[in-house]
Amino acid sequence: MRLSEIARKIEELKKSRRAVILAHNYQIPEVQDIADYVGDSLELAVKAIECEADVIIFAGVSFMAEMAAVLNPDKTVLHPEPDARCPLADFLPPSMVREYRSKYPKAPVVLYVNSLLESKICADYVVTSAAACRLVSKLEDEVVMFGPDKNLANYVEEVTGKEIIVLPPYGHCPVHEYALSIYYVNKALELYEREDPVLIVHPEVSKDVRRLASHVGSTSQMLKIIEEIDKKRTILIGTEEGLTYRARRLHNDRRIVPVNPRAVCIDMKKISLLSILRSLERLKYRVQIDPDKARKAREIIETSIEIMRR
Ligand code: SF4
Repeated sequence: MRLSEIARKIEELKKSRRAVILAHNYQIPEVQDIADYVGDSLELAVKAIECEADVIIFAGVSFMAEMAAVLNPDKTVLHPEPDARCPLADFLPPSMVREYRSKYPKAPVVLYVNSLLESKICADYVVTSAAACRLVSKLEDEVVMFGPDKNLANYVEEVTGKEIIVLPPYGHCPVHEYALSIYYVNKALELYEREDPVLIVHPEVSKDVRRLASHVGSTSQMLKIIEEIDKKRTILIGTEEGLTYRARRLHNDRRIVPVNPRAVCIDMKKISLLSILRSLERLKYRVQIDPDKARKAREIIETSIEIMRR
């Protein structure tokens, strides 16, 4: 079936099923194009709550679809590719959270949203990369446990000045750690040297890469930062390559290039137009969360939002 034919069928089914498609900024171009909303995990979670649809198709990795299901117990949340998982989340099983808790009983546990649901419900707070520093700075505690991303934990420590116990000390996103290492960043800076490049990066990159960057932020913050950069300068995007497509769509008068076009999250890329069509046709794969776990996760998320509002 041609892509245009698949897209047409998706549009028809979206109407008959009263469905919306939410797509993460790292999705492939045709998925971003057919989505009703494109954004980072927080923006999509908010859209999932606000939208009037009966069915939500979540084009992202499994923890994102789970979060949409947790926050929308009355809606049908479908994940077209249940195998699309985040390897960063797998670094921190719930048993490890419990182990750290018994080792450091006084320090609260703050988890990045890129974590397993079972681990989240063992935590005190859950944050996105955009909100991590804000939440930790508002806590009264001077020693805080943070996981599972060691680079984001290190960034939070730098910005807030608090002591961060990283759980585990080796958790990382393979895309940001290896495909966006200092080697590739230096190569890109050299390649675009004549264009006076501005490097903007995600906080999941390593500390040495962060040091070279003009701006550090979540994907949504990176998209906003672009507006403030001198139009004559080339913007180097230091995150998964999918954000470059989104950034170019939003800022088509700018020269925007990825640090490494091979910085690809293979899990994010598992979702295709065809898998979205099959998902809508068969109403599969439904994300079902144990009601007790969902309630506990909602409580933790609500407490986290409450702290950030203070
Ligand atoms: S880019 Fe990294 S953190 Fe994001 S979903 Fe892929 S593996 Fe996980």
